[in-house]
Amino acid sequence: MDPESGLDAIRNVAIRDGRIVEISEKTLTGKQAIDARGLVVAPGFIDLHEHGQEPRNYEFQAHDGITTSLELEAGTADVDAWYAKREGHSLINYGVSVGHIPVRMAVMHDPGRFLPSGDAAHRAATPEELQQIDATIDRGLRRGALAVGMGINYTAAASHGEIVDVFKLAATYGAPVHVHLRYGGMKEPTTGLAALEEAIAASASTGAPLHVVHITSIGMKETPRLIFMVEGARKRGLDVTTEAYPYPAASTAIESALFDPGWQEAWGITYKDLQWAKTGERLTQETFEKYRKEGGILIVFAIPESAVREALANPIVMVASDGMPITGAKVHPRGQGTFSRVLGRYVREGKVLDLMTALRKMTLLPAQRLEKRAPAFQNKGRIRIGADADITIFDPTMIIDKATFEDPLEYSAGISCVLVNGVPIIKDGKSVVGVFPGRAARAPILQ
Ligand SMILES: [Zn+2]
Repeated sequence: MDPESGLDAIRNVAIRDGRIVEISEKTLTGKQAIDARGLVVAPGFIDLHEHGQEPRNYEFQAHDGITTSLELEAGTADVDAWYAKREGHSLINYGVSVGHIPVRMAVMHDPGRFLPSGDAAHRAATPEELQQIDATIDRGLRRGALAVGMGINYTAAASHGEIVDVFKLAATYGAPVHVHLRYGGMKEPTTGLAALEEAIAASASTGAPLHVVHITSIGMKETPRLIFMVEGARKRGLDVTTEAYPYPAASTAIESALFDPGWQEAWGITYKDLQWAKTGERLTQETFEKYRKEGGILIVFAIPESAVREALANPIVMVASDGMPITGAKVHPRGQGTFSRVLGRYVREGKVLDLMTALRKMTLLPAQRLEKRAPAFQNKGRIRIGADADITIFDPTMIIDKATFEDPLEYSAGISCVLVNGVPIIKDGKSVVGVFPGRAARAPILQ
């Protein structure tokens, strides 16, 4: 199945030197053969939003059909170091944005680990700091960052001017800006919709492409209206895209600005809707205050199922996991099961969308999102002669997520075989040991 050409037929596919070299109805012979009878042969899935970028995460992602894992929302402050760390020993392809969050944290000496909890969250930047923030982002773009990442909700004191200036910078490199918007939820005037207005305006006025991350956990009940805004912007010629993950809960750091006073009203939830990831316990006012001082990851049950379905049913909304680093036995299951969950629960069982549309949201659309900035993506997300042999083979009658909120560290089922740059990393549903065919997915380096 190839979402670009629409081909949905029985073919033999030949691979040589990491690329697809032939697609034919005739029998093809080679040194190795994979019998894919009865299975779907699809382009490998591309995850635009994955915070888990360690070897253990890549194992889970491979078993969920992912061949390219990208950290484009939070991103990094040091693009060279990020790529150097993974070079030569990665199971799957990897890539990163230069992130406004970690850059602001470095420049403003924030004590937070993954997300800011001090000055980078709560203080306006001085003119000198603004200059350093822009200079660091500029350097990241020159070093081949795929995009600019932003999480304005986490850097709540960043002025609208600071945000527009970062968009301006991204525009000069043709880099998309992947944004966690300034607000989420439904409390006026700080709604997800108001926040989307800021980002669309910044994109329209600067020319930087905009990618709105996890639209359901920003929009909640208002998700249909947010998608309408994205569609409307596109109809009027703007380069605006979005993504969603297929779960009723979000996940983030308890010490972040998202849980500054007023969070209950903004999200429309209370303490019992928060789950402490480490132990799985639901919170009370007392435990909330205790853990907020400690810091750590929360699972936040706040997304209506209707919003999830609306996003998946809309053909422009891409699938992306927002997977988290694995810090203990409990973590949000989305990093382990997003893609199989969409194919099993929403395509096969729920019939919310058809299989080709789902594959398109996982392969071609993410590749097209990045291919102007990083031409390497012109050869990803497709089953086409000349394309990279990143291929996911699965059983459409079996595929299903196994990671749950109770037992999140479970491989998905039904993924039979995964190839990265022509090298099998999963065969007959099992990991191939000792292979590291993943390569850097990176924009051209300027100096
Ligand atoms: Zn986010």
